[in-house]
Amino acid sequence: MTQVDLSIDRITRSRRNRFTSVRLDRLVEYRDKSEWVEAAQNSDAARFVPLWHSRSLLAVSDKGQVAVYLKPGELERLDAIQSPTLLGTDGKRYFFAVSINDNQREEVLARHPEAHFIDLRRASMDMDAKHAGVLAYAKALHYWQHRHIFCGVCGSPNRLLSSGHKLVCSNEECARQSFPRIDPAIIVLVTHQDACLLGRNANWPPKHFSTLAGFVEPGESLEDAVVREVFEEASIRLNKIRYVSSQPWPFPASSMCGFYAEAENRDCAVSDELEEVRWFTVDQLEAAVMGDSVRLSPPVSIAFRLLADWYHKRSGKDLEQLVKQARHLKHR
Ligand SMILES: [Zn+2]
Repeated sequence: MTQVDLSIDRITRSRRNRFTSVRLDRLVEYRDKSEWVEAAQNSDAARFVPLWHSRSLLAVSDKGQVAVYLKPGELERLDAIQSPTLLGTDGKRYFFAVSINDNQREEVLARHPEAHFIDLRRASMDMDAKHAGVLAYAKALHYWQHRHIFCGVCGSPNRLLSSGHKLVCSNEECARQSFPRIDPAIIVLVTHQDACLLGRNANWPPKHFSTLAGFVEPGESLEDAVVREVFEEASIRLNKIRYVSSQPWPFPASSMCGFYAEAENRDCAVSDELEEVRWFTVDQLEAAVMGDSVRLSPPVSIAFRLLADWYHKRSGKDLEQLVKQARHLKHR
């Protein structure tokens, strides 16, 4: 049976997941103090995370992809930018998110010729974990703000308040408030004795296998969602479920809650959602990865993390290293 390393607590385990930005003080108590926010915005310590069509600004350096932040002077030159969203502070800088339109994008790129606007999911494989977290946080808020431009009750335009963290309907008779929303999803590595289960969705790229996952439904606990999804996708009944860690996943708006679950037995069957489910022992997983018959989710995903921890526990080896070796072999 899979044993999670209980010598580290869940906060430590979650912090190993990409996009966790818990170390940023979110300054919640300052969001409604407009004078304080304005002073922070105009101080030398202000850094602005630009987002253009949900894409983040990054530049390639010898350390991989690095986040490019704008400084207060640069922002002043960008005409009519909406008021920035306060993200928080790392103790040295104040981080804000700003939305950039097509004209402003040209201006930003002219000033930062080394940079480009890119999908964070792609870029994050090769970037510093702390800054990946800041960009993910900014992207999540940007997505929410841009999809709630109008009130869901009366259809009037919404106004952005609390430094970007609250929307209020501009129709005074309605005045409905709304707050950033995330969609909880469960992701689970199912194990039975010395094997783990991976599945393949027909829409995925060829050979791609991953842990089972699905959205939590209204009126359902996280654990019930694990039981339901595993049965729906693979017709497997579970004995034990253990929460492991979580990961913000702003593609576009999820919170991934990671679990290990133990199957009653290895009987399984595919459903409409998956075209294949397969049990892998450590040896079978190694052979499949090295032989390029199975490709795994990227190491930044909690799907990979759950599998890598299981693999390490059983073999003492590093799954990321194995994937690198396989890639090297393929390109030789
Ligand atoms: Zn309204």
